[in-house]
Amino acid sequence: MFPYRSCAHTHSRFCDGLDEPKAMVQKALEQNFISLGFSGHGAADYDDAAMTPEGERAYRAEVRRLQKAYDGKMEILLGQEHDALSPYADFPYDFLIESVHYIPTPEGKRCVDWSADRTEETIRQAFGGDPYAYCRAYFETCARAYEKSPAVIAGHLDLVTKFNEGGRQFDETDPRYLGPALEALECAVRRNMAVELNTGAVARGYRTAPYPGPDLLRRLRELGGRVMVNSDCHNAALLTCWYEEAAEYLKALGFHSVVILRKNGFQEIGI
Ligand SMILES: [Zn+2]
Ligand SMILES: [Zn+2]
Repeated sequence: MFPYRSCAHTHSRFCDGLDEPKAMVQKALEQNFISLGFSGHGAADYDDAAMTPEGERAYRAEVRRLQKAYDGKMEILLGQEHDALSPYADFPYDFLIESVHYIPTPEGKRCVDWSADRTEETIRQAFGGDPYAYCRAYFETCARAYEKSPAVIAGHLDLVTKFNEGGRQFDETDPRYLGPALEALECAVRRNMAVELNTGAVARGYRTAPYPGPDLLRRLRELGGRVMVNSDCHNAALLTCWYEEAAEYLKALGFHSVVILRKNGFQEIGI
């Protein structure tokens, strides 16, 4: 049994998730969770997955209601997954996750996690066919966001690899990839953000290993940065997808502990 009985990255039907927040809470309770964080996609007019401003208000009310209803049984945290290209307004939340789902290009914002075809089209049309220029633009967007973000968690740090299983679009060991990727990682650590081991793409069948890749995780450990296991859950049935495997995976990379997010901040848990 995994000791990190927590997830700080979940989506409900208020954004692009399947379930009511309450169904997620019940699933978490079944697994004896210590804490559960909701992180609906913050309003962004260019993003179909995001909540509307009215939806966001209703989401906050529902999660706050659950927080009270389950007080003493499990810690419930109200968060938001903020997309780096949306404005930084006031955040009436317990915590934020900073994520990059879109990159700016001369032809407008381009989504990085929609489909393999759309990614390849973006590389051709906006980056002259150079996948490394595309990756650099992604990681530079991450670094710029981390630099100013109030978030405590860096979301799926190398999301740009979503459709790159087997290296079909670029080589993740190439210095043209790793250079900007490591700079973004170092920026997150400098800003004291926890980096998530995000199992969501495994749960949805896009990848066989979680984000971020092993070279980035090794560097995270060398830097003494914090790692946390999150499932980026869009379906309550998959709340702990790959959680069992994650402990061995992280230990093989030299980690001895992870953090979980609680009401009073991060708690370190040995693995
Ligand atoms: Zn995301
Ligand atoms: Zn997410």
